[in-house]
Amino acid sequence: MQFADCIADWQQKHGRHHLPWQNTNDPYKVWLSEIMLQQTQVLTVIPYYERFLAAFPTLQSLAAAPQDSVLTLWAGLGYYARARNLHKCAQTVMQEWQGKFPENPQDIMSLPGIGKSTANAIAAFCFAEKSPIMDGNVKRIFTRFYGIEGQTNKKEIENRLWEQAYKNIEQASDMLDMKAYTQGQMDLGATICTRSKPACTSCPLSNNCFARRENRQAELPTPKTKKTIPVRSVNMLLIQYQNRIFLEQRPQQGIWGGLWSLPEFHTRQELQGLQNRWLQYRPPLKLAAFEHVFTHFRLHIQPWWLQCEQIPLQETAEENSQWLALDRLDTIALPAPILKLLQGMHQVSGAPDLLGT
Ligand code: SF4
Repeated sequence: MQFADCIADWQQKHGRHHLPWQNTNDPYKVWLSEIMLQQTQVLTVIPYYERFLAAFPTLQSLAAAPQDSVLTLWAGLGYYARARNLHKCAQTVMQEWQGKFPENPQDIMSLPGIGKSTANAIAAFCFAEKSPIMDGNVKRIFTRFYGIEGQTNKKEIENRLWEQAYKNIEQASDMLDMKAYTQGQMDLGATICTRSKPACTSCPLSNNCFARRENRQAELPTPKTKKTIPVRSVNMLLIQYQNRIFLEQRPQQGIWGGLWSLPEFHTRQELQGLQNRWLQYRPPLKLAAFEHVFTHFRLHIQPWWLQCEQIPLQETAEENSQWLALDRLDTIALPAPILKLLQGMHQVSGAPDLLGT
């Protein structure tokens, strides 16, 4: 049996069949799951996926929603550009495709936030297109099975993997079930050909697998060179009035675009400006610092706590800012580390346990 047929056959017998986004041809649902599953584990995605669909059951409803509601439902999943693009993409389909998701991989790829592998997956799942995928699972299976050496993020290796992916479909039988093959690669990578200790004895590819024959599973895929990522630092001010915290909406561009966060400062003068604005003459208290890791840098966050006796009148009605009660943190889109910090505050009803040295 050819590679693709073998995986499709295995998927039908042993793969996963009850994930909430399976058993549908609706491109909206498949697209949503594909975007959520980028960089995120299945088990984390499931509750988000269900909540999201309950709030926006159709592409039309997503396109018509305010961006803030979309970001709120995404809060905690990280990589917020995915949510912003999802929203933009729904609006593009409504405006430029008369509300009908395109079927051809090239057309799907022209939509905001959809790369080649995601476009091909949607086309294969929903429209039976013979379009291969290339995600982390597929790269792991291919490099081991074919003995492909070299870092998979290098153009040359990536091109080779794509060529192999198209070749596998060409060589498959005419009967190849694209849905089962596409899902099968994901299932095999997630459950059998795992990063560490792959279960080769249960693998349908084991008879012809290079890595198994040569006992090189641990060396393939070739590990990526670890880059040292730069550290950025920021001070954040937790301005508290009674049980409420002052939050500002971040600009659309840059990290945490469109999310709600704490006012920031970098210099003493900026801090002084914030203190004056809040009519506070006592210095803020320094809390315990912590780090948040992004793909390209680490953010060193130094929080400070400023308790207000009263709120200056003009600060109660500013656009893009709000006073949020600490027991309503789940109602808006907060970046994960800010949410954690505020949850910590809420639990101790104040800041004492968070005080740094
Ligand atoms: S035999 Fe082992 S290493 Fe080869 S594809 Fe299967 S699980 Fe992966």
